[in-house]
Amino acid sequence: MTHHIFGPVVSRRLGRSLGIDLLPFKTCTYNCVYCECGPTTTHSGRREEFFPVQEIISELDCVLSKKPELDYITFAGSGEPTLSLLIGRVISYLKEKYPDYKVAVLTNGSLLSLNEVRMELMQADLVIPTLSTASQEMFERIHRPVQGLSVKTIIEGIGALREEFSNQIWLEVFLVPPLNTTDNELSNLRDAIYTIRPDRIQVNTLDRPGTESWVRTPDPEETEKITEFLSGGVIPVDIIGKETDTSHELYSDEISLHIEETLSRRPCTAEDITHMTGLHMNEVMKKLGCLIRQGVVQSKQGERGIFYSIIRCIFCSPDANVVILRNEYAYCRLDDYPVTPGHLLIIPFRHVSSFFAITEAEQTAMWDLVRLGKHYLDRFYHPEGYNIGINDGIVAGQTVMHLHIHLIPRYPGDIDDPKGWVHRILKVSETMLELKDYPSSQKN
Ligand code: SF4
Repeated sequence: MTHHIFGPVVSRRLGRSLGIDLLPFKTCTYNCVYCECGPTTTHSGRREEFFPVQEIISELDCVLSKKPELDYITFAGSGEPTLSLLIGRVISYLKEKYPDYKVAVLTNGSLLSLNEVRMELMQADLVIPTLSTASQEMFERIHRPVQGLSVKTIIEGIGALREEFSNQIWLEVFLVPPLNTTDNELSNLRDAIYTIRPDRIQVNTLDRPGTESWVRTPDPEETEKITEFLSGGVIPVDIIGKETDTSHELYSDEISLHIEETLSRRPCTAEDITHMTGLHMNEVMKKLGCLIRQGVVQSKQGERGIFYSIIRCIFCSPDANVVILRNEYAYCRLDDYPVTPGHLLIIPFRHVSSFFAITEAEQTAMWDLVRLGKHYLDRFYHPEGYNIGINDGIVAGQTVMHLHIHLIPRYPGDIDDPKGWVHRILKVSETMLELKDYPSSQKN
C-alpha cells in the first residue's frame, strides 16, 4: 500500500497512467466549481515540501521495480502539483532512474509565471496546463483562486513555458456553460490560445460530479461547435471523452484497499474501477457493496452513471482547537464520548478505515502519538494504568470508519473489578469459541 502513488488508472487523456500525488488532500491555488475532488480544504499559493522526498522515491521504487506497463507517470491527485517544492527533484529522479517511462504534469498553470516552477518542469515529456477563460471576472467565478492571482499573468506564464520548453504542451480548456461559453468569452480565449501556441487543445467537460451541483456538461453539439471555433483548423484539438477500455492487470492483490485508495482521490463509476483494476464487474460491485455497508463509501448519481466516493467523516478535518498533539501523519484528540476522563483518540489524517491499510510511516506516527499521549495523560490526569485498543471492522464494533486508536487512562476504582477487562468486554458465546478456537486445518 502506498500513500503518494495511485493507480494505474485509465486516464481520459493519458491512457494507462500511474499517478503521483505530492500534496496533502486537498491543497490547491484554486477551488474550481467543477473540481471532482470536492472543495479545496487548504487554499494556498505557498510552495512547500509537504512530505520527505525519500518517502516518495521509496514508494516509486517499490511500484516501478515491478515494471508495470504504463503510458505515462502523471503528477496529479489532491490539488495543484506545482505547489510541491519536490516536483522538479522527483521528475529528475524518474528521468534518470526510469528513462523509459514518459512523465506528464497536469497543472492548473497558476504558478507557471514563476521561473523556478517552469525550470522544474523542463524534463517532463508533457505539460497540460489549464486555461478556461481570458477574463479576470470569469477566472474568479470558475476557479475561485487564492488572492492575488491574475489570469493575465497566468497566460504570460504559460506563454513563457512555450518559449522555453521543447516538449509537448496540451492546453486544457474546461467548459462551464454558460460562464465561459459566450461568443465574447470564447473569442478572447481563442486570442489568448493563439498567443500561447500549444501543441494541442483539449476541451474538457464535466465527467464526474463537480464541487457545485449547478455545473453542467454542455450538449455534444455545443461542445463540437466550441471545439471547432477554438481550433480554427490551426491547432489540433481533442474533446476529452469517456475513458476507454484497455487491458490491465492489478499488480497488487490488496484489491479492496486499492479501490478505497483510488476513491479517496476522486469519485469513480463501477465501470471506471473495472478498467483500473481489471476486476470483473460482479467482483467490483461486491466489494463496493461491502465498503458501502461499512460506511466507507457513498454513491451519488452523476451524468455518466452512479459515482462512488469515500465518505469524509468527522475525523477527516479536525478543528485546530480539538487537536492536542499532532505530527506529520496523525493527530490526537479527546474522545467526545469518553469511557474514562482523559480518553484519547489517535487518528491518521488520511481517511483510511483499517489499521491494516496504513503505511509504515503512518503506523510509526500513530504509535509515537500513543507514547506522547501517555505523557500528556500522566501530566494532566495522573492515571495508574491504560487500555490501548482499536475496533477494526463493523463486527469488531467500529462505528466511525476512519481508523482510530483508543488510549484509555485507568484509575483505581473506576470500575468494580478491573481484572481481565478485555476478556470481560468480549464475552462471546461458548459455541463460537469452540468453532473458532482452532485453525481450520485442525478441525474435522
Ligand atoms: S480542478 Fe484542479 S485546479 Fe481546480 S480545484 Fe480541483 S485540483 Fe485545483
